[in-house]
Amino acid sequence: MPSQPSPRVRELLKVIEKLEPLHTELGEPVKGDWLDQHYEPGQTFAEYLDSNPTTPRAPRRVIYIQPIGAFSKPQDAIIKATAGALQAYFQLPVKVGNTLPESVVPSSARRRHATLGLEQILTGYVCDNLLLPALPDDTAALIGLAATDLWPGDGWNFVFGQASTEDRVGVWSIHRYGDPAASDAAFRKCLLRTIKTATHEIGHMFSMLHCTAYECNMGGSNSLEESDRAPLALCSQCIAKLCWAIGCDPVARYKQLAAFCRKHDLDAERATYARLAGALFDR
Ligand SMILES: [Zn+2]
Ligand SMILES: [Zn+2]
Repeated sequence: MPSQPSPRVRELLKVIEKLEPLHTELGEPVKGDWLDQHYEPGQTFAEYLDSNPTTPRAPRRVIYIQPIGAFSKPQDAIIKATAGALQAYFQLPVKVGNTLPESVVPSSARRRHATLGLEQILTGYVCDNLLLPALPDDTAALIGLAATDLWPGDGWNFVFGQASTEDRVGVWSIHRYGDPAASDAAFRKCLLRTIKTATHEIGHMFSMLHCTAYECNMGGSNSLEESDRAPLALCSQCIAKLCWAIGCDPVARYKQLAAFCRKHDLDAERATYARLAGALFDR
């Protein structure tokens, strides 16, 4: 950070101060957790500013979602709702492309997993051969959202998703997030999982590293169980990074996110966003 912080940086440092008490410091990792198995240094707001981050500056302001494969009606509803969540979370326009049939992925880039018996598609093919050649000039991030399971190459069983921090493309699958048709609760769980993954990975695309300080959406995750435990909300350091990257007003963003969560019955998340907005009112 420069010795004389800009007015915007000073404003965001005040935001950190107000929000810090509302976030829970990360405890000792449970066996098998991401931080139990990986050493990571974390990243403060100041370190983020020093890293010359990639940010969605004009004209690269649009987040695109490209569905790939055969989705059920409830899964289509998840994609539509996720677009709304991303708009509120990143305060950027979000566009959903027409669904591509799974046949756009040739047999050379798919396999049937020997023991799991699952059809899987290769992440590298989707990113390099489908998404990159079709990247619009105004893209901040282009996400391929697959109906089938994914694998990143030899030696891997599967992967939830994969993103390039330089090429603005990434791919995720909703295959492992449960059947949203099973019940209203299953729908909400699938929606929350899809939103958490998409927002976390797009955060990486805007140069945000894993958070090691607080319970935070930018924390690393080794399993569905670990990411289910993590909150959707960003901690005080990470929200300052995101607000700096996208140039947003944090209160307006929290209010929009609370409204989104109310609409989709995500009660705990709605309450969190309302509390965070409240803490900034007397700024
Ligand atoms: Zn990550
Ligand atoms: Zn954080």
